[in-house]
Formats: sequence, structure tokens, C-alpha cells
Amino acid sequence: MENDNRGSVPKIHEVDNLIAYYNRDGRKWWVEEGENKSSFETVELMVAAYPNLEAVRSIRQNMIRREVERKEPAPPVKELVHSGKKKIEAIEECYYCSGSGMAGFMPCDNCDGKGSVKISNWLS
Ligand SMILES: [Zn+2]
Repeated sequence: MENDNRGSVPKIHEVDNLIAYYNRDGRKWWVEEGENKSSFETVELMVAAYPNLEAVRSIRQNMIRREVERKEPAPPVKELVHSGKKKIEAIEECYYCSGSGMAGFMPCDNCDGKGSVKISNWLS
């Protein structure tokens, strides 16, 4: 990760009525649709919720880069509907232990030693 201050100003992507940007501090993607604001753990979850954003070249490149980095296809994003609300879900490599399941000599707290965590987003 770069340590320069330029990183604190997120690059804004605009598609139709959507505004999307990556907030480095919170390590989350944000999408603004008028008054609605949603945050996403990963670019894949964001694009699953807002497919229009895949039209943005740098977002597409980000997804491709992530896929190359993990050297295997991105985990499928599942869509669930629960009492009328939609939820999207994916299994991600644990960011805390980078998938090893260990933090030092102890099993990783964040993923219970599994090396992966389930992440999800409710869609408004
Ligand atoms: Zn972990």
C-alpha cells in the first residue's frame, strides 16, 4: 500500500446516476445513488449489486487484477432473498491472515483459523 497523502482523496467513478469510489481508510467501496449510500467489502460484491459499474474501465481492471493476484477465479457471488430483502454473499480470503488461517503462532481470530471469511451485503 502506498503511503502518500494523495491516497486519501478517493477517485470518483460516475456511471448513470451512480457514484462509486474506494475508501482506502475503511478499505471499502462506496456507491452513492442519490440519497442512498451503500458500502461493499469487495469490488465483486459492488459490481454484483450494481452491474452498471462494470462499464468503468478502472473498476473492471481492479477486478481482473484481484483475480490474477489470487491466481484462481473469483469466488461466486450468491444472491439470496430473505423476507423480501435481497442479500449478496461471497467467500473471501481472510484479509487478516491472507488465507493462511494463522496469526503468528495462533489460529487467526478473524476467520477462526479457516483462512476465509463470509462477507455479505444487504441490498436496499
Ligand atoms: Zn484469518
